[in-house]
Amino acid sequence: MREQLKTLEREALLAVEQAEDLPQLQDLRIQYLGKKGKLTAILRGMAKLAPEERPVIGQLANDIRKQLEQALSTKTTRLAEQAKLAKLQAEFVDITLPGTPFVLGHQHLITRTLEEIQRVFAGMGFSLAEGPEVETDYYNFEALNIPANHPARDMQDSFYFGPELLLRTHTSSVQVRTMEKMRPRPVRIIASGRVYRRDDDATHSPMFHQVEGLAVDEHITLAELKGVLLTFARSIFGEQREIRLRPSFFPFTEPSAEVDISCFLCEGAGCRLCKDTGWIEILGSGMVHPQVLAVSGYDPEQVSGFAFGMGVERIAMLKYGVDDMRHLFTNDIRFLRQF
Ligand SMILES: [Zn+2]
Repeated sequence: MREQLKTLEREALLAVEQAEDLPQLQDLRIQYLGKKGKLTAILRGMAKLAPEERPVIGQLANDIRKQLEQALSTKTTRLAEQAKLAKLQAEFVDITLPGTPFVLGHQHLITRTLEEIQRVFAGMGFSLAEGPEVETDYYNFEALNIPANHPARDMQDSFYFGPELLLRTHTSSVQVRTMEKMRPRPVRIIASGRVYRRDDDATHSPMFHQVEGLAVDEHITLAELKGVLLTFARSIFGEQREIRLRPSFFPFTEPSAEVDISCFLCEGAGCRLCKDTGWIEILGSGMVHPQVLAVSGYDPEQVSGFAFGMGVERIAMLKYGVDDMRHLFTNDIRFLRQF
């Protein structure tokens, strides 16, 4: 029996020494010291021993149990430390390594131009108005004096959702909506946002941005329109600019005028930008058509108004010398960073 115990001691100590992780140690503890373990199994044979031998064997068994427990505990501590060390090494962060570069965005040229335009008109007392991009046929055409059979509807091939709904083809759709809300007067607003037409080539995009202006009050004249637009042209394109109004046609203004600014590249001498005319077209405008005022609930005999509309892309391209409209839609950060 002494031999059995000695063998068990050697075998157990060796097994503990060779254990590689904590679960293995736990198994060994159960295997040797548990209630159904090997040590207990040997001690069951004590009953067969002579009475004087029992204390001696009992003492030996106790020593072995203590020794084994000591060995298990020491090994457990060591393995736990090793595990902790391995974890720390695995999670080691070298704070001297260079970081992952963080890509910064840039304000879009369209947003920037829009904000500049809004600032100029805000300075002249215009407030911001909004309208939906999905618009009814009524506000986009009908109320603007463009009836169903009017040839102007052919000029603007549109994205329809059905007979009554479409993506607005111009921000002019905000005009009547605003006048209905702000009656009686005065109205002095600009409305900006996306508009949509079935155009897609180097100089046209199916989606682009417009800014619409509208003023309605008693005694508003063409001279005021001209003054407002001259202030705008000089604020955006420089103090030296002059403007000229050329007769034109829009169904919702009467009279109507295209507005040109004097060329800022050649100062009027003639160049590629102004096609040798000395003038560059920047927007359309006019006095609000009496019919549009009437539709909005005004008496055209009592009030008058002016309206104008411009393409934000065009203003941005002219002001910042962008030669291809597509640059404004590809959102290449290398392009945007230049402004
Ligand atoms: Zn020029």
